[in-house]
Amino acid sequence: MTGGVIKKSRKEPIRITEIFAYLDLPAFDNIEIGGTFNFELSFFHTANGVIANNGRQFVRLPVKEKLSWHYHPKPYGMWPSFEDMIDGKFNLYKFSTSLIFNRLGVWCLSMKKEQLQDVKFVFDLEIMWNHFHQFLLKYRRQLDDDDTGTQYEEHFETWANHLRSFNYDIWFIKRNDIRNLAPLMKAVNNRA
Ligand SMILES: [Zn+2]
Repeated sequence: MTGGVIKKSRKEPIRITEIFAYLDLPAFDNIEIGGTFNFELSFFHTANGVIANNGRQFVRLPVKEKLSWHYHPKPYGMWPSFEDMIDGKFNLYKFSTSLIFNRLGVWCLSMKKEQLQDVKFVFDLEIMWNHFHQFLLKYRRQLDDDDTGTQYEEHFETWANHLRSFNYDIWFIKRNDIRNLAPLMKAVNNRA
């Protein structure tokens, strides 16, 4: 990467290592970016974060693409936001998959559009999400001090298990294990 300028062309893919390089740069601490990717794990940067009315930043991801990605900069939560959990509601596909990067690794989140139309489902999901969100916020400073991320991983695993009971396919893949992403993506997208 040169001069901190992000390529913003659908034709020029960026690699996973470049995404992590952005995450490591303090200049990018407040900027959320995202876009689409393909099964060869070429990533395209198509969107920048915008600030919503409630002051929260989000990336408007493509609804016409099954696979999307974005990242959560260092000062933001290292876990998927509630908006991330219901993102698939607006997707044109029956199942959609998001990759959400943070400095420790990447969340792979695959969701079913149909159940996100169900008000009761979304209500129960939000209660569960909020429980973990509040927990992680409370211990965040302590967890952030652990450079290895081991403590986060334990909580992430518990959270992922709860989300699986909500019919999500969800994994957290550590930065060093990123080579496991390709087979995982293929498995996730074998869903009907
Ligand atoms: Zn997000």
